[in-house]
Amino acid sequence: MLVVMRHDAREEDIRAVVETIEEMGYQACPMRGRQRTSVGLVGHDGRVDGARIMALDGVQEIIYITQPYKQVSREWKAESTVVRLPGGLTIGGEDVLVMAGPCSVESDAQILAAAHAVKEAGATILRAGAFKPRSSPYSFQGLGRAGLELLARARRETGLLIITEAVDPEGVDYVAEVADIVQIGARNMQNYSLLRRAGRAGKPVLLKRGIAATIQELLLAAEYILAEGNPDVILCERGIRSYDTQTRNLLDLSAIPIVHGLSHLPIIADPSHGTGRRDMVPAMARAAVAAGADGILVEVHPNPDRALSDGAQSLRPEQFEKMMGELRLIAEAIGRRIAEPVGSRA
Ligand code: PEP
Ligand code: MN
Repeated sequence: MLVVMRHDAREEDIRAVVETIEEMGYQACPMRGRQRTSVGLVGHDGRVDGARIMALDGVQEIIYITQPYKQVSREWKAESTVVRLPGGLTIGGEDVLVMAGPCSVESDAQILAAAHAVKEAGATILRAGAFKPRSSPYSFQGLGRAGLELLARARRETGLLIITEAVDPEGVDYVAEVADIVQIGARNMQNYSLLRRAGRAGKPVLLKRGIAATIQELLLAAEYILAEGNPDVILCERGIRSYDTQTRNLLDLSAIPIVHGLSHLPIIADPSHGTGRRDMVPAMARAAVAAGADGILVEVHPNPDRALSDGAQSLRPEQFEKMMGELRLIAEAIGRRIAEPVGSRA
């Protein structure tokens, strides 16, 4: 439920609404918009007596949110969320952010080579997993905390921001010490204890769509993070399972405009896991930017033939560089721009 205050509502009116909501046993969430203030009522609001709130001074109207997800909906917040990152980078505004790097951190030399290569081509965020959720227990599982240390070093050396995955609730805390964005992977989209912990991470969270998740389930998963008090959630379309074996997954680009309509949260696309094929990645990245994606998450490896995970879908550095040039043209054509690396910004 959203309590919309009148333009001329006084501070004491807003306070009275907050106190009444809390007295009723719910959490109140005041939101100051450009035109007016709204107060959200957080919790299962099916039985709330709206008449009691409506009678308070300064209340203009009460909106019952029709969607099962509340705080992530556009009904709750009409303005798009712009997630602010260190160095003045933003996601969800005009800029399109490119997050690039290998699937996994493999060694000091590999991650530094990848970081320098993606930075030179214009990426602003380094992606690489230290903790890897692999389909087989016998596949490379990542370097763990040693991998986080290598990412911290790559950050210091290049100035790139870091996105890396947390696979369990305890891991969220130490991943958040190094990462500028904590990634929750597709397999964990409905791991509710992990989502709750991510909601208390104090860092922006990238939430990937599950391999068989509906858009509604994705938005409800995001709601868990917002409900814990973290508003900085970035969604990611990374492909869903289909019957066709030509690609690893089916990159559902229609999810991008659908999510933008239903939610104020930014959404990016991952054409690497979305296709599983290096030859298709640039085309789908271009299409994702054209479809309105707020960013691209792409796998780039200095030597994909020797990668310990996802080599077949990882771009070679020169392919990535070419793709960046194409993405700049597409972004410009739709009135956006590819974010520039921190330091080279005006
Ligand atoms: C990854 O980003 O390397 C990854 C494991 O992705 P997903 O969770 O989408 O499979
Ligand atoms: Mn991968």
